[in-house]
Amino acid sequence: MINILIIDDDVNARNTFGKILKLKGYNVEGVKSGLEGIGLVEAKFFNLVFVDLKLPDMSGLEVIKKINSINQDTTTIMMTAYASLETSIEAIRNGAFFYVIKPINIDEVLLLIDKALEKQRLSMENMRLVTELKEKNSELSASTHKLEHLAAFDSLTGLPNRRYFEENIQQILSISKRHGQKFALLIIDIDNFKWINDTSGHDVGDATLKELSLLLKKNLRKEDFIARVGGDEFAIILRGFDNYESVVAITDKILKMFQLPIHIDSIDIHTSVSIGVTFYPLSADDVKTLFKQADVAMYKAKSKGKNCVEFFSEEIKESYTRMSEIEHALQFAIEKKELYLFYQPIVNLKTNKIVGVEALLRWQNDKLGNVNPLDFIPIAESKGFINKIGLWSFEAVCKQGEIWNHHGVKDLFLAVNISPVQLEQENFTQQITDLVERYQVRRVKLEIELSGSILRKELNLGAKNFLIFLKQVQFRLAVEDFGTGYSNLTSLTEVPINTLKINEELLKNIQEGSKNYAVVTGAIALAKSLSLETIAEGVETKEQVDTLLKLGCELAQGFYYYKPMSAEEVTAILLKA
Ligand code: C2E
Ligand code: MG
Repeated sequence: MINILIIDDDVNARNTFGKILKLKGYNVEGVKSGLEGIGLVEAKFFNLVFVDLKLPDMSGLEVIKKINSINQDTTTIMMTAYASLETSIEAIRNGAFFYVIKPINIDEVLLLIDKALEKQRLSMENMRLVTELKEKNSELSASTHKLEHLAAFDSLTGLPNRRYFEENIQQILSISKRHGQKFALLIIDIDNFKWINDTSGHDVGDATLKELSLLLKKNLRKEDFIARVGGDEFAIILRGFDNYESVVAITDKILKMFQLPIHIDSIDIHTSVSIGVTFYPLSADDVKTLFKQADVAMYKAKSKGKNCVEFFSEEIKESYTRMSEIEHALQFAIEKKELYLFYQPIVNLKTNKIVGVEALLRWQNDKLGNVNPLDFIPIAESKGFINKIGLWSFEAVCKQGEIWNHHGVKDLFLAVNISPVQLEQENFTQQITDLVERYQVRRVKLEIELSGSILRKELNLGAKNFLIFLKQVQFRLAVEDFGTGYSNLTSLTEVPINTLKINEELLKNIQEGSKNYAVVTGAIALAKSLSLETIAEGVETKEQVDTLLKLGCELAQGFYYYKPMSAEEVTAILLKA
């Protein structure tokens, strides 16, 4: 319903005009004074207000002004008997939509009303759109803000993410440059985080990350900038630090902090971290290089056995350059036929007879020369090349087994090293089964060597399947590096092991009464009680042989007997025997 108000002290004019408008379907009210009119406009909404220019209590222009200030949506039209141009302009300047001249020409006025209402409708629609737009804008800016937050912060830990960190470190660097300040950049990587995810599930993995982030936040100063820059990687800027000694205290604290078990859903999660450190401006003065240096140092810490800190140095830089070259060249090693196997005989300690050989990978590259497996296997593992390389060496061993079969070599077992990374592949067992069938390997005795570190953790599905497969095809399983690291004794009874290999490190200083003597004695006794065979690795001296014989070790492998050699050399020795 359209509400119209007529403010006119002339009662006749008011009534006649009002009646006509009512007949046209409008809701009309009339008052005789300005104040009454203003009062009504304050109390309710009128679409149109006709105001006579001359009112008893105040000027019509003042009333129009007042009404416009009360409600901008109300349209005012001035009525006047004196149609001078000045007054009309004055009325419009005071906010009137238009003016009508008395006596009123009703047709003209009705037309004017239509126009005024149309304009009012449009302007109200306009206002509505503007308000809507404003609301949308504020919604948009709220979600933009949220998006910016999401883009800058990690949703799991609430820490700044890599992008934000990179922007921020650039700023910190500029400020430090201007003020001659120093800082240390730390990259912290959780060791074996994949194991936590694989064995305890992603929820526990997530909870662990959250907990570790909290620990970091709690234990560092406010001005230290922490971010989560990768799945299991954090970066920290320690401002004001510029030397080794001052950072050691902090990194020690971080290492210790991460070594404590974290309790999640009544499970104790054991973690450790590897930390790489570099300094601005001592080591580099640009973000990219600093990041790379801290990363390289962190990798160095990993290769040193994890759970430690490494500071970037020129020496590390060189080894990193070599690591990058190895990584690059390794991708083409199989296609370029650069890989081959050496075999190291394993002998019976009592008879000196060769009972088996261990296949050991060798790599000869044009540019890099002979690369040590200890240098390229960890890289192959971390870059995922080990799956292809491992399969290649397994196939090469199968082929060699066939050759020895043809030569009539009997009762020789072939030991193959398998990386724990290979076991993580779900189709690993299938790949090995295919090779075994293709080469009829059942006629050869195979022994699979796995690192003792796999006994430390719960086995994943791939590894469990593989162990079942080993049992089915009656391949033997040897656990290496026994006695060092973290071999878990209870899992020795759960996994179908045949052989324990005693690490060469334990054979050093093995004289009676030494710590190593005690460990080796214990390892051999344990193996015996579980009916396992023992192979001592890295035997180099007669003294070691004597001690091992005394302790009841059965087999040995080492330079004292044979160095790793080509298959042809092994064949020659075997055929001579
Ligand atoms: P490993 O399985 O413990 O192999 C024994 C290592 O000890 C070999 O080093 C061998 O050359 C060395 N060795 C043998 N006798 C002596 C000795 O009397 N004194 C000393 N000091 N060392 C001795 P190599 O060939 O450099 O291999 C190093 C490691 O690389 C192996 O340790 C194994 O973990 C890994 N590896 C080698 N081939 C393969 C492979 O085909 N696949 C996988 N996944 N790993 C391999
Ligand atoms: Mg081995």
